[in-house]
Amino acid sequence: MPFDVASILVAMTLSMLTMALALVSVMGNVNRAARFAQAGAVLQALGWVLLLLSSRVVPGGSADFALSTLSMGCISGGLACNAAAFELWCGRSAPNRVPALLAIAMTAGYGAGFSSYAFRVGWANGLLALQMALMVVGLARRAAVPVGRWRWLLIGGFALQALFTAWRGVLGAFFTEQFPTFMTPHPVNLAFAMVANVTTVAGLVGILLAHRDEAVRALERLATIDGLTGVLNRRAWLLQADTELANSIRHGSPLAVLMIDIDHFKQINDSRGHEAGDRALQFFAGVLNSACRSGDTVCRYGGEEFCVLLRADEEAVRAFDRRIRIHLQDAAMPELGHALGYSGGMALRAPGEVRMAGLLRRADAALYRAKTMGRARTIDAGRAPVELS
Ligand code: GH3
Ligand code: MG
Ligand code: MG
Repeated sequence: MPFDVASILVAMTLSMLTMALALVSVMGNVNRAARFAQAGAVLQALGWVLLLLSSRVVPGGSADFALSTLSMGCISGGLACNAAAFELWCGRSAPNRVPALLAIAMTAGYGAGFSSYAFRVGWANGLLALQMALMVVGLARRAAVPVGRWRWLLIGGFALQALFTAWRGVLGAFFTEQFPTFMTPHPVNLAFAMVANVTTVAGLVGILLAHRDEAVRALERLATIDGLTGVLNRRAWLLQADTELANSIRHGSPLAVLMIDIDHFKQINDSRGHEAGDRALQFFAGVLNSACRSGDTVCRYGGEEFCVLLRADEEAVRAFDRRIRIHLQDAAMPELGHALGYSGGMALRAPGEVRMAGLLRRADAALYRAKTMGRARTIDAGRAPVELS
C-alpha cells in the first residue's frame, strides 16, 4: 500500500486541531499545568496548519518566509508549553526555562537563515529534536509527586519522534538532495510523519491522565488535610495512629497521645473576630508542627482541639509540651497581638495496650482534668493526675 507523507501530515494536523479544540472547549476551569497543555496543543496545531499552508505558496518567497517562520515559532513554542505542563504535573513548581529559550532561538535562527534551505531545515529539526529530548529527560527524572504510567507513553513517543526529527535535520542539512521539501517521500520522513501521529495521540492521553492524577491527588488532600491549618484531619490521623500503634506494639517502642485544647478560644473570636480566631488556629498548628520531630503526627481533632501522636516516652512528651509553651510565650504576642495558651492531656501506651480508643479516652480525661484544675497546664493520665507544666 503506497503511503504519502502529505496525507499522513494532514491527518496528523486534523487530529491536532481536534485535540486543541477539545482541550480548550471541554476541560472547563483548569489550573496552570492544564493551561500550558492547552496552549501547547493550540500552538502546535496552528504551527502545522501554517506549515501545510506554506507548501501552497511560492517556495522561498515572502509568503513562504512568513508562514514557515511563524509555523516554526508555533511548533517550538507549543513544545515548550507542553514541556512546562509536564514539569508541573511531575510536581516541579518552577518549569525549566530552557525549552522556551530554545523555542525563541529556533524561531529567530530559522527566520535569519531562511534563505539557506539546508541551514533552516537542519537548524529547525535539530532544535525541535533537542526540545523533545529535553522533554523526555524531564519526564524520566524523579518526580516530586507520584506520576502514573502515562509518562512512559510520552517518553517512548517523544524519544522516537526526537530521533526521526533529528534524522530529518541531518538529511536536510547534509543530504539535501534526498530531502528537498518537508513532504519528501523519504522513508525517514514517512516514519517521522507516522510517529508524529502516534505522539499526538500519546500526548492527548498523557495530558488527560496527568490532569486526572492531579485531580485525584487534590481529592486525597482534601480528604486528609484540614483546610484551615494544613495539618491532618481527625479521620486521616486516626488511620495513621493505627499504623503507628501497630509499629509500637511490634517493636515495643513508646507511643504517646497529647490532646490539646486552646484556652478561652471563644474569647478571641468574640473580641477580635473570627478571622483573628482562624489566624490563631493556623499559628498554633505551625507551633505544633515546628515542635514535632520526625515520626510525630499532628492533627486538628476538631474546632480548637489538636491531637499529637508522639513516638515518645513520658520524658520526651514533657519536653515537647515545654517546647510548645515556650514558643507560644515568645511568639504569640508579636505574631497575633494577643497571648495564646492551652490545656493538655497526655496518655502513654501501656504495656499490652492494643487499641487507640483507650489511649484517646485517657488523654481526653486528662485534658478535662487540666481544664477543671484551672487550664494552662498539661496533665499526665498515666498515673494519678500529675501536672506537667
Ligand atoms: P475553654 O478554655 O474551656 O476551652 O474555652 P474555649 O472558649 O476555648 O472553648 P469553647 O468550646 O467554649 O469554644 C470554642 C470555640 O472555638 C467556639 C467555636 O466558635 C470556635 N471555633 C471552632 N472552630 C473554629 C474555626 O475554625 N475558626 C474559628 N475562628 N473559631 C472556631
Ligand atoms: Mg474545645
Ligand atoms: Mg478551648
